[in-house]
Order: sequence, then C-alpha cells, then structure tokens
Amino acid sequence: MPSIAPFSLPGKFYRGNIHTHSTLSDGLLEPQQVMEAYKDAGYDFLSLTDHFVSHFDWPVADTREFRSASFTTIIGAELHAPENSVGEIWHILAVGLPLDFAPASENEDGVALAKRAQEAGAFVGIAHPLWSQLSIEDGLALSFADAVEVYNHGCAVENDRGDGFYLLDQLLNKDLKMSAFATDDAHFSSFDNDAFGGWVQVKSESLDPDSLLAALKAGHYYGSTGPVFQDVQIDGNQLHVECSPVNAIIAQGGLSRSVVKKGQSITSATLDISLLVEPKKTGWHPVSPSDWFRITILDDSGYRAWTNPIW
Ligand SMILES: [Zn+2]
Ligand SMILES: [Zn+2]
Repeated sequence: MPSIAPFSLPGKFYRGNIHTHSTLSDGLLEPQQVMEAYKDAGYDFLSLTDHFVSHFDWPVADTREFRSASFTTIIGAELHAPENSVGEIWHILAVGLPLDFAPASENEDGVALAKRAQEAGAFVGIAHPLWSQLSIEDGLALSFADAVEVYNHGCAVENDRGDGFYLLDQLLNKDLKMSAFATDDAHFSSFDNDAFGGWVQVKSESLDPDSLLAALKAGHYYGSTGPVFQDVQIDGNQLHVECSPVNAIIAQGGLSRSVVKKGQSITSATLDISLLVEPKKTGWHPVSPSDWFRITILDDSGYRAWTNPIW
C-alpha cells in the first residue's frame, strides 16, 4: 500500500513544543532555563509563546541565540484580544511571527489580530478550546486558522480541560481543513507538573525554523502524548497503520462510527474504513459518509497520538 503524507515525505520527524511560557509573561522559568529544559528532555525545537499583552509589554521572545546544530526555535507568541462568544479574551497561538510584530491596537479584535498574524507569516492555532469554553461560532469566526489545539497538557492537569477535538471535529464537518496539534502550554508550575505532556512530531527535510514552519502550515505533523506513528498507508478503503506498541488503533470519521483494532502491545493494524466513508446501515443505525477521518493510537498507560485529518 502507498504511504500518505507526512509519512511518505522526505526528511525526518522532529519533536517540538509550540506553546510555552517563560518569565517574559507568567511562566516561572527564565527563557534560557526553558530552552535548557526542553533540550534536556530530548526536544528538537521550541516556540516560546509568551502572552502578547500590554501587561507584559507585548513580548515576542527573541530566541535566536538558543539555536544550534541540534536544537532550534521558532519565534512566536500567544495573542489576546476581546472577545469570544462567552465574553472572555481570545487565546490564539501564533508560531512564526516577525520579531517586530506590532502590538494590538485598541480596536483590533481577536479575529483581526489572528488574521494579521497569519498575514505576517504565522501558523495560527486556536488555543485550548475547552478551557476557554469556545463555541462552534468562535471556531467559525477563526475559519482561516491553520489548526486547533486538540490537546493542551497544562489545561488537562490544571482543570481537566485539555481537549480540543470537540471543536475541531465540528469544524471539519463544516469543511474547514484545519490540522490538530498537541502542546503542553508549560508555565513550569511545580504544583501542576505541566511540562512535557504533549508535543508535535513535524516531518521536515531539516531542522530549519522556516522548513519546520512550512511543514506545520502544510499539516505535515502529528500530535502525541507518548506513542509514535511509524507509517500510514491507504489503498482504496484499506487503511494500514504502523506504530509503537499500543492497545488500540482507531480511525474516527465525522459521525458516531469508528473502526478499531484492539490488542495488547500491537504495532500495526489494517482497517476497512468503508464504514466511515460510504453510506451504510449498521443494524438499526443508519450512518452517513464523512469526507474525512483521523487516526488515534492509545497505549497501555493511556497516552495517545493523533494524526491530522485525512480528507
Ligand atoms: Zn492560553
Ligand atoms: Zn498559553
């Protein structure tokens, strides 16, 4: 069976975190300590995304001095402006910002600010939808965004609101072609132990910030809290997945049905996805076809990894 992107593409997977805070906003570690922590934990790259607000003097962290042959950084920030559908400020991730990205003006709302960041070259991600209680209307207002943060480890450990799939899947069902990234959103609170709990694996030809950024925008990555995808192949309605040892390999479409292989420490599955992509009736339950599906792998410890949506 032929492999699909990003597994079919040249290069290798680089592990990175694209949502992190430091003392430039409300994180507890200095930027240099943050960089050392991720290097020591085996990461290949990091985007330091401090809160871009006047309270912290509009930080866009210049992390270029921390780049080396084996570790790099992407310039970024977490953007804030009024006002989402529940009346709170937006949290919007912008990875790949210019260092001179101008502060938000008084009358610039979250949608305009996110658009300006994307036009300046950034990968724009809708941050922690469940923590922010974002509605489908909020997602549609940011229909131009590149991606949804589907797992935020900091929110998961803070108040069990780390999920973003509820919003992503609804937006995919509206034909919005967004990708799905995982982060830890670490502030390095020792109480929460919020670092290193979620990351992205980005397929790139080199550890070059521009190359990594282009791969993020193209959706050439997957998110994980532990397991590793080795290959995904598709031939007609046959799907083949290879991965690190897991207990479930699941393909989910835009409706209630899914196809699953379960076992103990399985490292591959061949699944028939016709249930997801063709109209069918399973027993008494009619199922409409979906234009997309995605794959989840789940290991023995409950750690998960997720491909981007496959259209
Ligand atoms: Zn946030
Ligand atoms: Zn954050």
